[in-house]
Amino acid sequence: MLDKTSYNNKPQGIEIAKITNRLEKSQVEIDINELADYLIHGCTFKPSVLNGKKETDWMEQQLFALDFDEGTNIESELNRCKELNILPCFGYTSFSHTHEHHKFRLVFCTHEPITEYDTAKQLQLTLMNIFNHSDEKCKNLSRLYFGGKDLIYVGFDNRINHKEIINKYSIEINISGHTEKKPHNNNYIYTNTINLVGLKTPIPEMNNNNYNIKAIRNRDAKYLKNKINNSHTILENNQAFFDYIFTYDLGKLLEISYPISFRCIFHDDNHPSAGIFQNDEGHYFYHCFGCGVSYNIINIIEMLGNFKSRPKAYKFIREIFNLEIQETEWQKEQKEILIENLKTLTNGELKENCPIAYNNISRNIKYLQQLLLIAIDNVYDEKLTDNEDNVIFYASTRFICEQLKMSPQSAKEVSKKNVLFQYHELLNKLDDEEIPENMLKRSQAIGANKEIKNQKHINYYSIPSYTTNSFKDIERQGVNWKNNNYTMKGLSREMFYRTEGLDVANKLYPQYKQIYSKEQKQVIDRTTTKSSDNRTSKIVKYIFDLIISKGYATENDIIKMMNTEYSKTLSAMQIKKSLQEILQGYDLKRIRANKQIKEQYGIIGNGYPFLIVKN
Ligand SMILES: [Zn+2]
Repeated sequence: MLDKTSYNNKPQGIEIAKITNRLEKSQVEIDINELADYLIHGCTFKPSVLNGKKETDWMEQQLFALDFDEGTNIESELNRCKELNILPCFGYTSFSHTHEHHKFRLVFCTHEPITEYDTAKQLQLTLMNIFNHSDEKCKNLSRLYFGGKDLIYVGFDNRINHKEIINKYSIEINISGHTEKKPHNNNYIYTNTINLVGLKTPIPEMNNNNYNIKAIRNRDAKYLKNKINNSHTILENNQAFFDYIFTYDLGKLLEISYPISFRCIFHDDNHPSAGIFQNDEGHYFYHCFGCGVSYNIINIIEMLGNFKSRPKAYKFIREIFNLEIQETEWQKEQKEILIENLKTLTNGELKENCPIAYNNISRNIKYLQQLLLIAIDNVYDEKLTDNEDNVIFYASTRFICEQLKMSPQSAKEVSKKNVLFQYHELLNKLDDEEIPENMLKRSQAIGANKEIKNQKHINYYSIPSYTTNSFKDIERQGVNWKNNNYTMKGLSREMFYRTEGLDVANKLYPQYKQIYSKEQKQVIDRTTTKSSDNRTSKIVKYIFDLIISKGYATENDIIKMMNTEYSKTLSAMQIKKSLQEILQGYDLKRIRANKQIKEQYGIIGNGYPFLIVKN
């Protein structure tokens, strides 16, 4: 039920009463994406369908919302959704959300509308129990949810399986306090309380003779190796090792016969509070709702085996699974290059030798370090180099996001950061043509295996060794970046194309070199779009209008003049992409105003803005 009146702030008092009254007559058929759109424009909704206002008027429900007010943040709740594979169809921030205090809602959708009150209530309570930072008030199925500001997660096609969720995650939930509010007209199964304990899950006795757990505690690798009984497997690199062990069934390893609900082995547990779950990459996790631990296989081995050294834990894991990581001399050398690069970044050497370049990248340097670390685990045993003996490393942007525990929505940010480093010659992106065929096939096979949904394309990077020889190139690019007024915000193929031409743009964005032209009916070099050319000529016109009338133009002036035709964001973005080209083409310059310049142009007011003036 949706009230299409839009608010900018949280409605108060009488407004709420008005909304409630309007909502009563506002059953709508609506797509989820439309609903999300209404909500971020400040409209109010009730996830349930009611024949009135109260919970006793409940009829059916397909959407389930959770409200998060305090004690958590967006990232950790979304990670939890991912970890348990209970994905909302969208999430949005509420009116009072701030950067410091996250306030937001997640909305889940079931495959079919639920028409049994008990089931709907069970599902709502189970969801609240799984996401235990959610607001208590959500348990009321007739609750209304105000709109908010921004979408924080979108997966409109995501559906949750309510039977599975209730089955898997039901623990003691006493909703007896609500029975008097149950719908009077509900003809479905009527029980006084929905007692979820033992409803569907037997309470398994923790087997006292669980020899596998004992063996891990005693670090008895021989026993476990025999029990697991793997044939000897040679792995090429650490990533292959992680892929192997994270996808090994933890229930099997720990000999837990009922892995979806059992008594936790890490705390004194009277109820079956723990479960073993798989995320959407098939990785197994141990999670306990009682003590809150969330462990992967490495954590479990370290905790149970009381390992104080990670390499020793790895060695133990390799032994029990009969795995061997075989590194060739070649791989060792490649790793060494990457490790030396890391040192250059962290020991001040790059900063000292390339001060301007370093300044340009300093805010993102941590990302480069992480990328090098990922590359270290992914060095392959194939003597492949580009023509410069650089390390070749391949990964999809999605894979990089996963490794860095970033949401797939961050893919665009990751790609931008990569371009920043490419520009500074700290990283190269290879064109498909430069990649040896066998390697291309191999990565495509990996891509296909992992059923990568969004980011099918695997990118090939080559990472040069950061040496005294390369410092001057890195710094030269740093100076170019600075002189061209490049910013991360405007970063785009178009920005480089307009400023430095086709070759530079193609080098940084090899995958976007060409485009199919509908007009010419053939593949042509990608240049700029007509609409962006139009916006660019408008910008030029307004700059000259402003210079004629007062001697200078500022970006804000231009944006205001474009206001009738384009949004502020679009104008600002276009200026970032086109400005350098305009400055060069029309003999203009961009200067920072100082006191003297302000006097010269008669600028009053605080601040020292950037001015665009004639050269
Ligand atoms: Zn526990």
